[in-house]
Amino acid sequence: MDSIFTKIINKEISSDIKYEDDYCIAINDINPKSEIHILVIPKKPIINISTSKDSDKDLLGHLLLICKKLAKQFNLEKDGYQILTNIGEGGGQTVMHLHFHLLSGNAVTL
Ligand code: AMP
Repeated sequence: MDSIFTKIINKEISSDIKYEDDYCIAINDINPKSEIHILVIPKKPIINISTSKDSDKDLLGHLLLICKKLAKQFNLEKDGYQILTNIGEGGGQTVMHLHFHLLSGNAVTL
């Protein structure tokens, strides 16, 4: 079954798109947990890092570099930022389509 992110990628539901290319889309989180909260989502419907394959290496690298690019674009470098991904229900994942959270403004401390 398609996740809500597949519907966003296919423009079946609207979102606040910050970046898009052939491999991914970046949108504002609908329920932001910090001042800046962007989701970087691959167009390929990988569930999470656990289900990714060795052959996804380039895609995973691309997603992180897009996080970096957006952090620069939104001037997050000086104050710092976080890139987080949740894995599985027990890991806090609610949408079963891989995504990286790009967060800045009130860091989650570990
Ligand atoms: P996670 O809990 O790691 O799976 O994160 C899922 C994130 O997706 C949450 O931060 C939600 O607020 C966000 N989210 C859910 N539906 C939408 C939507 N339609 N547009 C933007 N963000 C969404």
